[in-house]
Amino acid sequence: MKLPNLPGQTLESLFNRSDFGIYIHVPFCMRRCRYCAFISSTPRSIPDKAYTRAVMHEFALRHGLYAPLNLKTLYFGGGTPTMLPDCDIGEIVDAITNRCGTPSEITLEANPEHLTAQRCKSWRDMGFTRISLGIQSFDTQMLQFLGRRHDRQQTLAAIDMLHTAGFDEISIDLIYGGLPDSERTSSQAIEFWRSDLETARASGAVHVSCYELTLEPHTPLWTRQKRGQTVVCDESAIAEMMTMIPQTLGMTRYEISNYSRGSYYSAHNLSCWAGLSYLGLGAAAHSLYTASNRIVRQANTQNIRQYMSSLDAPRPALPNPEFTEDLTPRTHLAERLMCAARTRIAFDPGAIAAQIGADIAPYQNCLHKAVERGWLESLPDGKLRTTDQGILLNNMLDSVIFEGHETL
Ligand code: SF4
Repeated sequence: MKLPNLPGQTLESLFNRSDFGIYIHVPFCMRRCRYCAFISSTPRSIPDKAYTRAVMHEFALRHGLYAPLNLKTLYFGGGTPTMLPDCDIGEIVDAITNRCGTPSEITLEANPEHLTAQRCKSWRDMGFTRISLGIQSFDTQMLQFLGRRHDRQQTLAAIDMLHTAGFDEISIDLIYGGLPDSERTSSQAIEFWRSDLETARASGAVHVSCYELTLEPHTPLWTRQKRGQTVVCDESAIAEMMTMIPQTLGMTRYEISNYSRGSYYSAHNLSCWAGLSYLGLGAAAHSLYTASNRIVRQANTQNIRQYMSSLDAPRPALPNPEFTEDLTPRTHLAERLMCAARTRIAFDPGAIAAQIGADIAPYQNCLHKAVERGWLESLPDGKLRTTDQGILLNNMLDSVIFEGHETL
């Protein structure tokens, strides 16, 4: 969604506190990518109708708590949401917008191999404003190494189809740092990455998310590395790859992994970092509900079968959650400060504390320490903003902020 230009804005002022988002998790994939540790399954036949009914029932049972709020964003993520047929996706969108009104941003995560001209048009007709394409690379050899099912030609054709269908907001995900075979050196990988970024720039996408390839335990790529094959670039190449991103893309880095052209930010992501309430529907989906008297986080069961058997039943009932926790205002404040510090958007710690009803005093010293170390900059109006250095060393910045929480 095109948000107001960020200079002069603070993260906490971008939304009304009465705004909220809905996230739908579709935990199915055709097959597992070789780096993936997300919660998704690869059944021979997707239980699309049963899963759609379960999501609709969950929405009916849970939306009442959020009913006084204003729906700002709707996001279909996964897994692979485009594994669901369009009639099911449309049914969920209709049920939500009929009840909550039409939000200003509706995003669908899609895999390039699932796009057809007809499907793109149908997503547009359903009201989607933004498509987030799981491209990962424009290099077919890299795509095979990652275990993706598409190739370069399909990817370029998918982007064309989205433009033709009238989508102005195309976001793409890219992964860097992989070494697809022993022939490729880290310095060659830098040139392949440059080419990926240049292709992304030329594609007309307005938003790109760039992720370093990480080896999650027990994934196939992790196993290869354990067996002695080098599958990731050396640290200095990774640092160079990260550094070249904004200029090569011609975009602004507004968060650790996210880059935008002009002010085409992801409102869904920004609203989560700004601490707004969100309702997560589907197996393994997380929710946050913040009200003046209560802040609650909940995760749905990760067990897809259990999720469907409870909710796709003659008398639908909510399955036991994976967990539910009440957050104290001070814990929520620590999280809000850490989320704000992930972004390059200014934030006002005192205003955030006031929104939550928490005391900012215990955090003053650690925020001051982060300013002294050059990870946060203090703006003339007293607000703070994370520096480039603070983005690079975000884990250390988090630890410093968390010291304030531990002293409480
Ligand atoms: S498509 Fe996404 S969620 Fe599915 S296996 Fe690949 S990376 Fe994981």
